[in-house]
Amino acid sequence: MVDKEEIRRRNPIEDVVARFVTLRGSGKSLTGKCPFHDDSRASFVVWPDIGYFRCYAGSCGVEGDVFTFVELMYKVDFREACRILGGEQDARPLPKLTKRPPKVESGPMLSELGPKERQALGLAHRVYHSRLMSMRANSKPRRYLAERCLTVDDVRRFGIGYCTGKDLLPAASFAGVSIPTLQTVGLVVETPEGGWREWLAHRVILPDRDPKGVSYLMGRALSPRATLKYLGLKGVTKPIMGLDSADPKRVTVVLEGIFCAYSLRRRGLQTLAVMGTALRGARAQQLQPFGNIIFVPQNDEPDEDGVRAGDQAVDVWCQEVGKGRVVRLPESIKDVNDLDQAGGLDDWLRTWATWLYRDRS
Ligand SMILES: [Zn+2]
Repeated sequence: MVDKEEIRRRNPIEDVVARFVTLRGSGKSLTGKCPFHDDSRASFVVWPDIGYFRCYAGSCGVEGDVFTFVELMYKVDFREACRILGGEQDARPLPKLTKRPPKVESGPMLSELGPKERQALGLAHRVYHSRLMSMRANSKPRRYLAERCLTVDDVRRFGIGYCTGKDLLPAASFAGVSIPTLQTVGLVVETPEGGWREWLAHRVILPDRDPKGVSYLMGRALSPRATLKYLGLKGVTKPIMGLDSADPKRVTVVLEGIFCAYSLRRRGLQTLAVMGTALRGARAQQLQPFGNIIFVPQNDEPDEDGVRAGDQAVDVWCQEVGKGRVVRLPESIKDVNDLDQAGGLDDWLRTWATWLYRDRS
């Protein structure tokens, strides 16, 4: 059994990344040019305190921990990444890179994990969901979801939860789910004092499902000071949300964010949310079984070079997915959930109704 936390301690993410990328800045976040795409700006951010990295370029979007970084850099699996990082205990240099780094995220997917890990994830989901359902309507998480246009019925139907950071460990102990299992699925991390803390603490929990049950959890921060607005399970590859429960024969709308997906799902549409990860390579391939797909990119402000992430995402869509249709939102609207909040979503959908609801007739 690999001691992931020990390897993490010996390999601070900023040191490992700095072997490949010149990082600038100090304190909470460091930035540099992304090594996984042709980056003209510093789109790549590293957060030493949580041991995480992410590329903010719309066409790339890689993210993960130190293991993910090594897996992507060397195009190796998790086991080999451990070996590479384990070899660093004498501060020997990392082995020389022989191939060009790939541009597609890889890493363990939860569906490859066994029944024990499934059970841990199902338990966490039940704990987080029942916690949210027991909270008052004027509590912060419930108010946040209402602002995002979700009713109590939606919260129940989509299985949304809230992680206080205090509920999971006692529940796991009671249910006989071990801490190493919780750690394998990225639900808990070791603290510097040798205790355990919940990885998704103080976040609204947004689940993904497949036919076997809950298959992934995303955490949305409520605090504006949070390092990352969205955080997935630690060390687990982020799926395309909705993919494993989707019917490829139905009309399917592909969106960036999960709240955009909820806005359409509650209107009876089938959706997939890519959650900030570019649709390249294997991820784009996963969309091939879908016959009728529509991509709705976000509208965002151009950066200092005049580049919009939404436009880049459309280019990637055309190159990598190469089918379906792209539908743009009105210029002044950021995304579908924004339009929902502004009260204009139903009118906008009506203009696409013959396409969107063609599987209903
Ligand atoms: Zn990148």
